[in-house]
Amino acid sequence: MEKIILHIDVNSAFLSWSALKLLEEGYKKDIRNEISVIAGDPNKRHGVIVAASIPAKRIGIKPPINLYEARNKCKSLLVIKPDYNYYYSKSKALMDYLKGLFPEIQQYSIDECFIDYTSMKFLYGDEVKYAYKLKDEIYEKFGFTVNIGIGNNKLSAKMASDFEKPNKVHTLYKNEFKEKVWDKDISQLFMAGKSSCKKLKELNINTIGELATADVDMLVRNLKSQGKLLYEYANCIDDSKIETDKYLDRKGIGFSRTLEYDTDDIELIYKTLYSFSKKISKKLREKKVYATTLMVTIRDFEFKTSNHQKKYTNSFVFTEDIYEKAKELFNEVWNREEIRLIGLRAVDFTNSGNYQLSLFDKNLDNKNKEVIENLIDKINNEYGSNSIFKGNKLN
Ligand SMILES: [Mg+2]
Repeated sequence: MEKIILHIDVNSAFLSWSALKLLEEGYKKDIRNEISVIAGDPNKRHGVIVAASIPAKRIGIKPPINLYEARNKCKSLLVIKPDYNYYYSKSKALMDYLKGLFPEIQQYSIDECFIDYTSMKFLYGDEVKYAYKLKDEIYEKFGFTVNIGIGNNKLSAKMASDFEKPNKVHTLYKNEFKEKVWDKDISQLFMAGKSSCKKLKELNINTIGELATADVDMLVRNLKSQGKLLYEYANCIDDSKIETDKYLDRKGIGFSRTLEYDTDDIELIYKTLYSFSKKISKKLREKKVYATTLMVTIRDFEFKTSNHQKKYTNSFVFTEDIYEKAKELFNEVWNREEIRLIGLRAVDFTNSGNYQLSLFDKNLDNKNKEVIENLIDKINNEYGSNSIFKGNKLN
């Protein structure tokens, strides 16, 4: 049986939520009906427009244009600063409400979530009728509108909710995929970032349909694992699971860092992953456990979050081992766009390392590694965290 997945997406979330905040504070106008934008400090790097009202979009004011260009288009443009704490409270209220209705829910970003409706159909009935009802309920309860996309996997549900906005329900079932999206530009495909699109256009692949029918080996040669992923997406193939909180909260050791600025600097990203690997290795050795699953999380400026994890047959504990795996996972999930946050988490522990089963000399090698890493930790604990590190990290 095909799955039924819903994707709920708040329309112009930051703008809608700021509109509600201003109305609560007694502001007379609803900025959703004005030519208005949400933008940070125009003198700072993030003085970019993060959301625009529908009237603003109508006259060409929408991300990624900057504030200066926007003001040129409309002298009386209303510019409102973002209030992330308020946004988080609105986001949480909506997610808590939805979690009360559905056990299988994954918050995907501050204003989006996926719901597995498959097993709820017997309770709530036809998914399209239900989605219309739910959309209206959310508006009555919270005062903002959403789009709901319905598909047979996360990919198609997400793409469906991106069709005409606001306040709409759309379907994109597997059997509608070809007819509804193959003629669209590849930039409309989920996960097709700017640099991937550029490469595809150089290969003379312009539409989703052209990508879906391209030679997959050629795509892998040119775009590596991203090529295969996009090829599958263009064919509506996505078997990823709904990652509920329970799934993400599994006991583990993890670290994440919000970077000072959005970056696609791979050196910086690798350095960050290395420092997490070192910390994770240390904690694992302190607990005297080995991990078998590693997960990488990346988040962009708009809070879009991607997780990628893998379970390994051989358990791991050492820095270098974790680091190599982390880099590989990172490269598989990263769409080459700038990122804001990066995280690394080790989960699924065992008490014994598989290496005990391997050949004696390899075993000895790992024992030595453990002695050396423990020694490095000991020195760093006593003399500060960077007193000693391995020679290959001297950059
Ligand atoms: Mg949204």
